[in-house]
Amino acid sequence: MLSRVGTVAVTKKKKKKRNSNTRRMESSSNFVARASAQPLKNADQLIDSVETFIFDCDGVIWKGDKLIDGVPETLDMLRTKGKRLVFVTNNSTKSRKQYGKKFETLGLNVCEEEIFASSFAAAAYLKSIDFPKDKKVYVIGEDGILKELELAGFQYLGGPEDGGKKIELKPGFLMEHDHNVGAVVVGFDRYFNYYKVQYGTLCIRENPGCLFIATNRDAVTHLTDAQEWAGGGSMVGALCGSTQREPLVVGKPSTFMMDYLANKFGIQKSQICMVGDRLDTDILFGQNGGCKTLLVLSGVTSLSMLQNPNNSIQPDFYTNKISDFLSLKAATV
Ligand SMILES: [Mg+2]
Repeated sequence: MLSRVGTVAVTKKKKKKRNSNTRRMESSSNFVARASAQPLKNADQLIDSVETFIFDCDGVIWKGDKLIDGVPETLDMLRTKGKRLVFVTNNSTKSRKQYGKKFETLGLNVCEEEIFASSFAAAAYLKSIDFPKDKKVYVIGEDGILKELELAGFQYLGGPEDGGKKIELKPGFLMEHDHNVGAVVVGFDRYFNYYKVQYGTLCIRENPGCLFIATNRDAVTHLTDAQEWAGGGSMVGALCGSTQREPLVVGKPSTFMMDYLANKFGIQKSQICMVGDRLDTDILFGQNGGCKTLLVLSGVTSLSMLQNPNNSIQPDFYTNKISDFLSLKAATV
């Protein structure tokens, strides 16, 4: 009897709490579906609750070519605690090897196997579906994609080589294309042009079964710190417009890389914490994969953007930068 009364009291209490939470969410936004993000107060608790950390790179590890304060010490501490570290980036302009060099230049001890760029994801996806080795891949994008396709043993054409090509529109002009292209991969491309759009469009529209793969659909990227620049989504959007097809996206927030990582390392997704600076790619990627999520404010998202009533993407936790793992740890000791 006593315990029944206790249960009823708890249930009433829970209901009251739920109602006040619901009211708070309704008053702040019609879109908020998850509880609001909490400031990270106990880093040790979060660290102890997972076995793997997936880090986005730009805005988390570095900003452009500058390392963010405290990163080496933080990564060392996590390794000492036996955590698996993985670095995931939507930037497809570099291969894993090329990213490895960037980590090295910045003085970070990260091996190639720990790096997952969307250039690699495109090649890994083709491998996962046994894309025929006698078919070709047409690439709209930069060197990173070509390098990864080559490593995976796929034949390709396009890429930077088509950057200077122009179309001369004479009466009756018809552009030839390779009928053996079985996939078009589109990523961020600083040398994007009409030749590439038309070539990719012909392959997708006219080659039966030709795949349309996007490394990412990021709206903007940070080529310089002075402004936001049109991102990979702009190149992908051009092909969507001309083919009237939607691509298969292999980068964040699609879960392909997450599934790949979980399989490769045999990790349970609930044992992963995704750390990133972007809500619509990193945090969504973590949530889509069923991971814990931590937003850092050292990149493109500010606290006011996170708390804007129109933002519906709420990470589990947020903090200023990953080295807070060290100071928040010290504070709780
Ligand atoms: Mg980032």
